[in-house]
Order: sequence, then C-alpha cells, then structure tokens
Amino acid sequence: MHPPLTIESVDVRAVMVPLKRTPVLKHISLPPRWPIILIDLHMEEGVVGRSYLQPYLPTGVRYVATVIHDLVERFKGKPANPVDLFQHMRRSLSPLGLEGVTLAAVSGLDMALWDAHAKAAQLPLARYLGGSVGAVKAYNSNGLWLIDPSEVARETEELIAEGQFTALKVRLGRDSLAQDVASIAAARRVGGASLQLMADFSQVFTMDEAIARCRALDGEGLYWMEEPIACDNLAGLAELRRRLATPIQVGENFWGPRALQIALELDATDFVMPDLMRIGGVTGWMRAAGIAAAKGVPVSTHLYPEFSAHLMRVTETAHWVEWCDWAEVILAEPFEVRNGEVQIPERPGSGIDWNEGAIAKYAHSF
Ligand SMILES: [Mg+2]
Repeated sequence: MHPPLTIESVDVRAVMVPLKRTPVLKHISLPPRWPIILIDLHMEEGVVGRSYLQPYLPTGVRYVATVIHDLVERFKGKPANPVDLFQHMRRSLSPLGLEGVTLAAVSGLDMALWDAHAKAAQLPLARYLGGSVGAVKAYNSNGLWLIDPSEVARETEELIAEGQFTALKVRLGRDSLAQDVASIAAARRVGGASLQLMADFSQVFTMDEAIARCRALDGEGLYWMEEPIACDNLAGLAELRRRLATPIQVGENFWGPRALQIALELDATDFVMPDLMRIGGVTGWMRAAGIAAAKGVPVSTHLYPEFSAHLMRVTETAHWVEWCDWAEVILAEPFEVRNGEVQIPERPGSGIDWNEGAIAKYAHSF
C-alpha cells in the first residue's frame, strides 16, 4: 500500500502536432495540425500523474485548460482519490452541464489521478486496477480516410505493415456506392479475405441515405458499421440495427457512462467504443464497461491507445483497441504494436511520459 496522495498543482500545456495522414472526411473539417493538451498533476507527496486529451478543435485547448486549472485550484490540498473526486468535480460543475467541456476536463484529471496512484504503488495501471499486463488486440485506425479509391491499396499495405495488423478501419460514405465498394475491394485485394475491416461513416448520412447505403454494403463482410447517422439519433440507430446484418458500432460520442446505458437500453447498437475524454476518464470507463458487460456488449476503445490498452485488460467484454498514433510524437516511449497487438510496457502508471523536445517543437500557446 502507498500513502494517501494530496493534490498540489497542475501544469497544463498544449501542442499542435502534424499527422502522418490527413484525416479526410466529407462534412467535418479536422485541423491540419492536431491539438493535444498535456496534463501534469503534481501531488504533495512528489508523484506526478500524467494524461493527455485531444479536444479536436484548437480553440478547445483554451476552454478545457481553463476548467482544469479552476478544478485544481478548488481541490488543491484535498485527498487525491479519483472516485471521490470524480463525483465532487462533476458536481461542482453541474450548473454548467455534466457533459462537454466540463466532463472533458474532469476526464483528463481523472486519468492523471489514476496514473499518479498506480505510480505511487509502483504498478502498471492494469495491475493497479486488479488485472494483468499483456498484449491487447488492436486494429489500425491511422488511415484509409475518404481518399481516392485508387490510393486505398497502397495505404492498406502500409497500415498492415505498421504492426502486422489483421484489422483496419476504413472510412466510407463517399459520394457514390461504387466508390465505397471499390475501396473495400482494393483493401481486400491487399489484405486478403481474412483482413477485418471496421467501417466508419462518421455520421455522414440521413436516415434514408443510411438505409440505402448500408443495406447495399451489408453483404461486404464489414466487421462493423460505425455511426452511419447522427450519433444521438438512438431510435434511428436501433432501426438500422433491425434492418442490417452487419453489427452497428457507436460510442465515441457518449458523454459519461449513462449515455452508454441509455443507448443500450434502446438497443441502439451492437458494440460500443467509448472515448476516455468523453466517457469520464478511467472512473467513467470502469462504470461504462460494467454496464456493457452486464448487457454482454463488446467494448472497443477510441483514441488514447495507451490508457485504453490498460483498461481493456480489466474490461470483461473487451473487444478491440483502436490503434491511433496521433499522440505518439509527444511520448518519450510510445507503446509498440506487434502481431496486431498493443504491448503494454511494464512501467508504473499508464506508461506515458513526455518527449520534451517534441513538446517544445510543437508547442501551442493558448
Ligand atoms: Mg468514428
């Protein structure tokens, strides 16, 4: 056992990092450089808990950082117990809403708090949570955006080679069905029939469009169809699910564990894939994972492969880690992928530490 920890202060920094492959989507424009918020949460006892957040929008850095600073100002000198603080921090912000910027800030601090505790106990996070350290199966999500179908074969080859992957994410929802079909065929030509393709539509369709396109693609052997319509149209998702043989996947936009519970109560999805910034960090994840397990629903991850890999080791219905290397440049020792599996390092905490050179190079003032 390690002694109790006490919150002392926080350093919040940000970077804007280049991405190897530009995310191309039809209706959402992602910035050419990807914003990342770095959190160093200092304990009076000398331990530093670390986490990062990806707020998508460069302006989001300032909003989320402001809330993080205010929370630490309010709770400094208090016991750093993550589960207690999850409640206290959320409650303190509830007049502004329990979702969005407020929950993103709480999630980032929650992850840093768990990291601090695992470090103080000198255990990798998975073991601190009662699990074991080991490999976690992953699919490569780093490419296959809405690029020209003629480029899909080359990129498929690259993505498989990045970690001997047997599963990739392919973005679909191009202007024509023929283009989507051509992209799937090109990926399969390279990866063979055994290549698993997780298809993400990123909410591009209306309900009618989704019914037409997803039914036309239903025989393509896709592993799942992710967010074909607006992620909060739960009745629509339930309807799609009834009409399709391919499993539906949603969850990156669940804000808090109760959002997951509501989606499952409405039979809106076959699989879930919470995002740590939105689900409530480690505490929110553990609650969401319990709800999914009770319903027997497979749980995958969204972004944050390092913390996520640890959490999959203690998730009863663990499914796939989304391998996303966007934050890798700022990490001192990025996690490795071999044989399509993320390797969790035997380091205390989440195993993330900063590459200060890269942070200086990509520093973003806000
Ligand atoms: Mg997605």
